[in-house]
Amino acid sequence: MLFKRINKLSNNLINKISAGEIIERPSSGLKEVMENSIDAKSKKIIVELINGGSDQIKVIDDGHGIIKDDLTLALDRHATSKIVCENDLFNIQTLGFRGEGLAAISAVSNLVLYSKTQDDNHGYSIKSKFGEVANTKPTAMNNGTIIEITELFHNIPARKKFLKSENTEYLHCRTVFERLAISNPNIHFELYNNGKLIYKLATTDLLLRIKDIFGDSYVKCPFFINDISNYLIKINGYVFHPSYLDTKKNLQMIFINGRYVRDKIIYDAIKKGFSGVLHHEHNPEYVLFVDIDPKEVDFNVHPSKNEVRFVDNSLVHSYISSTIRKALATTPDDLIITKNTMEPNLAINQYTTKDSKNDGYSFTDTAFYENKKSKGLCDLFTNDGNYEKPRFSLGMAIAQLNGVFILAQNDYGLVVVDMHAAHERILLEHLKIQIKNKNIDIQNLLIPFVININDNYSNTLNTYFDKIKGLGFLIELNGNMLRILGVPKVLENANIERLFLSLLDELGQYGNSIAVSTELDAVLSKISCHLAIRANHGLSIEEMNSLLRNMEKCERSNYCNHGRPTWFTISMHELNSMFMRGK
Ligand code: ADP
Ligand code: MG
Repeated sequence: MLFKRINKLSNNLINKISAGEIIERPSSGLKEVMENSIDAKSKKIIVELINGGSDQIKVIDDGHGIIKDDLTLALDRHATSKIVCENDLFNIQTLGFRGEGLAAISAVSNLVLYSKTQDDNHGYSIKSKFGEVANTKPTAMNNGTIIEITELFHNIPARKKFLKSENTEYLHCRTVFERLAISNPNIHFELYNNGKLIYKLATTDLLLRIKDIFGDSYVKCPFFINDISNYLIKINGYVFHPSYLDTKKNLQMIFINGRYVRDKIIYDAIKKGFSGVLHHEHNPEYVLFVDIDPKEVDFNVHPSKNEVRFVDNSLVHSYISSTIRKALATTPDDLIITKNTMEPNLAINQYTTKDSKNDGYSFTDTAFYENKKSKGLCDLFTNDGNYEKPRFSLGMAIAQLNGVFILAQNDYGLVVVDMHAAHERILLEHLKIQIKNKNIDIQNLLIPFVININDNYSNTLNTYFDKIKGLGFLIELNGNMLRILGVPKVLENANIERLFLSLLDELGQYGNSIAVSTELDAVLSKISCHLAIRANHGLSIEEMNSLLRNMEKCERSNYCNHGRPTWFTISMHELNSMFMRGK
């Protein structure tokens, strides 16, 4: 016979095949199990690993549990309590929904599942060894669910061989644990490896959860993001400017509708949001929660569920990049409130309201205020909890140091300003405003630029023709022959072909482009560097004060045009402790 007959695969074999996609290594098993505990509305989740999860993954939760009659189903493939009909697929509110997590794990391990609901007097357990499920048995336990996974991949030696060292597997498990702990600060989590306590994370808010996992550095100067202006998509969380982080953990977490995802459109949007204020050696750091209308996003792209597809890429991209851009366009006035009023400080706008009468702040969270006050951290607030904005955030100049730095004194202590860097930024922002307010000067090219573009580019060009003209480009398109007849005057010396193609690339991918404004910034930044005061240029006290006053009002003047900070303070607290005063 030249061909073989078709036969239906056994459930056990189907589960093993699908386990290959879902359960790549111990950490993917841990993710499925922890997500189930979260979906079960647990308040406390304890994870106990042996040898980084390679020899045991045990998760204990206090969630709603599973009734006896459903225990066998829980291990079955495509059996779930989270969706019922097709419509539910477009309105997913839980982390799981495909009903294959436990089936996949139980096909490739020795799994024991114990569970007790609050309506039952005792719990029940069920065992599955490499897909062979045994009968349920009664067991004494608290409300909730316990899962023990051992002998992972022992029936698939080829897969087992791919596992890395115990330490590598442990680090993968820890990363999974950290992501879920960050996205659920309202749940108490504990992580143990070989009996050693790694994390004990009490219920808290997002920023303090970030601090508990990644360190104090992250509460020094967080930029709080909370934008609810768009009805289809909302964003909240924190971005961290690496200049204000003493220890960088390369924290880059995005959650869409509560689920950790990797997505190149969002990565790019965040990068663009940081453009102009980030040093090229630094990476942006962030924990961001994007909430998007479930109809605008598809999670059902990959069994691991950490990839998504958006209905409208351009909406997502432009919304995220502009929100982050706005959040980082702070003035020293904004920053001094966040950075220096409380140490360790928290994003003050979460706990205070801006008082329009005296341009100051007052606490909305009295317990928070009392706690800070008891630690001597609210010394700029009167005891009724009101804070008056200092008249000048950056204080008054006292001296110039070595022709490079301005030293000033403000209410908190000493302010040190990099004079050239700060001036350069002020000039750049002024030039940008001038350009924005005037009609763009167009330079007609003596010899038009002719580029042969591909079909993709010409489609993009037709779609965004008016937008491109609005940027100051005079263009004609004939078939695939693009003629550039004029360009914005400030860009006349730029590499027009490269700039124009990257403009089309970005428009094609994301529906908007900051290629032109980035190029414009680069040109204006060169001009402002040229015009800015140089080192060893002596400044009078009045000139220094005038620079400080200009900085206070200027957006982004906390960073130079290359993304380095332009000023910092040493507070009286810090000075006192350096000299051990009061000890
Ligand atoms: P899914 O999470 O996609 O529904 P799973 O195979 O991970 O699929 O789980 C199957 C079902 O078992 C879930 O729908 C849920 O009803 C139940 N379940 C699993 N783990 C738990 C848990 N820790 N607490 C309560 N129910 C659970
Ligand atoms: Mg699940």
